[in-house]
Amino acid sequence: MKQTNIAVQMTGVSKWYDDFQVLRDISLTVDVGEKLVICGPSGSGKSTVVRLLAGLEAHQEGDIHLQGGTMNAQKPGDIGMVFQSFNLFPHLSVLDNLTLGPVKALGLSRAKAEDRARRYLDRVRIPEQADKRPSQLSGGQQQRVAIARALCMEPKLMLFDEPTSALDPEMIAEVLEVMEDLAADGMTMICVTHEMGFARRVADRIAFMDGGEIVEVGAPEQVFKAPKSERFALFLDKIL
Ligand code: ADP
Ligand code: MG
Repeated sequence: MKQTNIAVQMTGVSKWYDDFQVLRDISLTVDVGEKLVICGPSGSGKSTVVRLLAGLEAHQEGDIHLQGGTMNAQKPGDIGMVFQSFNLFPHLSVLDNLTLGPVKALGLSRAKAEDRARRYLDRVRIPEQADKRPSQLSGGQQQRVAIARALCMEPKLMLFDEPTSALDPEMIAEVLEVMEDLAADGMTMICVTHEMGFARRVADRIAFMDGGEIVEVGAPEQVFKAPKSERFALFLDKIL
């Protein structure tokens, strides 16, 4: 049965790197339009979950279904991903960073791709930076270009892996604001972040990972008030 209101369904997913089990029996459902925040200590497997969803790595056990189809059936650009390091092409202008995917992978004409790129640069509030090289921009601006680049593929799901962790403190807010706009527009989002203010404002649910497991999932108002697990409580004590 095709359940079109479900964006992501992971069922019993386990993954190993050689003998090391990095993910243990992960089950997780994200509805279309939902915003899920994933947090947890370093090494708990958060990035691995995101990389699996993006199709960048394979798992050994369990199933991952995306909007009724399987991972392998995903079309280019169906999933947008934003990393901690912005991963822009340094030798291309901002505009060319944005048009590359739509032209090469989606077959858009240069003119259409440029229209689209300018629209999304507006959306991330840096229309005036189109002709610059990434190295001429601040970290916050580069990360907003990375978000715009993902949006240019018109993805159904956006994955963020610690998008503000590499930024100077004064640039974090501008990136979170853009992410909040996107959330308000109804985008389905999975965000690995320790920005708990953002989580409180934006997340429908927060998942806490530790040791390759999802230890707890709950609504922000519930987990911030009274996490069910000791491990999550200790973690929140440390970061809040
Ligand atoms: P997190 O994002 O929560 O910090 P990761 O998903 O990056 O955690 O990594 C989880 C664990 O898997 C870590 O112990 C890490 O060292 C290990 N790991 C990640 N990638 C690889 C890899 N390519 N080969 C071997 N071990 C890896
Ligand atoms: Mg990580």
